[in-house]
Amino acid sequence: MSDHQEHIVILPYLALGHMIPFIALAKKIQERTNYKITIVSTPLNVKYLNSTIAKDSTNSNNISLVSLPYNSSEHGLPPNTENTEALPLKHMVTIFNSTLSLKEPLQKLILEIIEKDGKPPLCIVSDTFMGFASEVARSCGTFNVSFTTAGAYGTAAYVSLWLNLPHLLAIDGVFKMPGFDDSCCFFSVDQLHPFMKLANGDDPWSKVVKSLLLPSFDSIGFLCNSVEDIEPMGVKAIENLTKLPVWCIGPLLPQCMLKKSEKDSIFESRIGKEHGLSPEECISWLNEHPERSVLYISFGSQNTISTSQMMALAMGLEESERPFIWVVRPPIGFDIKGEFRSEWLPKGFQERVSKSKKGLLVKSWAPQLQILSHSSTGAFLTHCGWNSVLESLSQGVPIISWPLAGEQAFNSKLLMEEMGVCVELTKWYSSDVDKEDVKKVVETVLGESGKGKEMKEKANKIGMCIRDAVKEGDFKGSSAKSLDDFISTLLCR
Ligand code: UDP
Repeated sequence: MSDHQEHIVILPYLALGHMIPFIALAKKIQERTNYKITIVSTPLNVKYLNSTIAKDSTNSNNISLVSLPYNSSEHGLPPNTENTEALPLKHMVTIFNSTLSLKEPLQKLILEIIEKDGKPPLCIVSDTFMGFASEVARSCGTFNVSFTTAGAYGTAAYVSLWLNLPHLLAIDGVFKMPGFDDSCCFFSVDQLHPFMKLANGDDPWSKVVKSLLLPSFDSIGFLCNSVEDIEPMGVKAIENLTKLPVWCIGPLLPQCMLKKSEKDSIFESRIGKEHGLSPEECISWLNEHPERSVLYISFGSQNTISTSQMMALAMGLEESERPFIWVVRPPIGFDIKGEFRSEWLPKGFQERVSKSKKGLLVKSWAPQLQILSHSSTGAFLTHCGWNSVLESLSQGVPIISWPLAGEQAFNSKLLMEEMGVCVELTKWYSSDVDKEDVKKVVETVLGESGKGKEMKEKANKIGMCIRDAVKEGDFKGSSAKSLDDFISTLLCR
């Protein structure tokens, strides 16, 4: 390594939805600099990431992967395999706690890098849920930068709650979220994930989340996978709460998704093994449907819904008679990687929707980027994982929300109240869902007039804003400028 070559160490959280934007970030830094980038993770994830990076056509010579010993193989979090939020709280605590076992090996790695490079890395960019990296960075003479892969609004609300426990002082179910401006500070208790409702600050869940999240405030700032103009109130709230700068550098999506002219192109999946149907099969099915007519349904990389919810969703979809692509997985209580059984759906449902070409059921994993960027896709029923939200909005696709975990209900609130591009169907996997409600929201969002039309227009505008943000060249977008600023800030320290 040359004396001048800088080195950045990157530590993603272990779940797929977090690793995807981290890899994209590594690529972005690589496009701008000659820095060496080391991505660290558990042995299982590194194996997985290796094949993903190798699959990518761009030159990744300066990016290397290092696996750190991970002290919890039985609770490991391999990508795309665990239905984490449906796990008992105790198991979740164990999973979160086990990430702390990466702290010492990370420290050892940084010391090895110092020995090899003759100087500390420029910084450690770690997931906001890997706050222990800030202590490691400090002890090794470098800096930590916290990267939140959630949106700014969701991150701010989540952070605010953990900073202000206990948070059960709501009057009539509504409370003021500290850190947010008066115009957008009212949240309702039912937007708190069931785990969060139980947290009092001293229970095991509170302790583990706080121990991973709060040290992130010792970093020199937050990178956020978002665009400042689409959620300025969230950015401001993070700044208010942490007193740190926020660089919005998103959306970290593949280039082809950000150029509208290549909208229908079939591009390689970024990450994840695709089973079920090939992208080509999905695209040719979509080609047979009119513009903006199809509802795409998926609950992200690791979530599913309950059997009764699945049944109601299927009945509502069938009765709505709108075409749909649905990524189906075994429901709560069954092995999410297991075989799908037809008894989880109404009798004859699969045959009927397939014969009428009204529905395409994709088992387990779909080429989401290709589906969302196809012109026949008109709406997305999503759990509101932040990658899904960005992917949908970047294509101007309005949303039907069904938050299932983490900060997703806050994302849903942002999409409904601040952006006006979403209708919420229900929340969590324990709620009762009625097929009539399904029909109603599908009709509203896919409808060609009224609220549906309005949401489409708003989603289109936001889509343009998102795509503009990452433009390079003479008319650099806000996120591209923000990334430049981040890199020069590092060099000035
Ligand atoms: N994804 C996909 N096909 C699927 C399900 C998910 O390609 O069938 C991808 C999706 O495009 C997104 C990621 O997996 O990039 C899911 O991330 P998100 O933040 O939406 O949700 P999470 O999985 O973290 O809950």
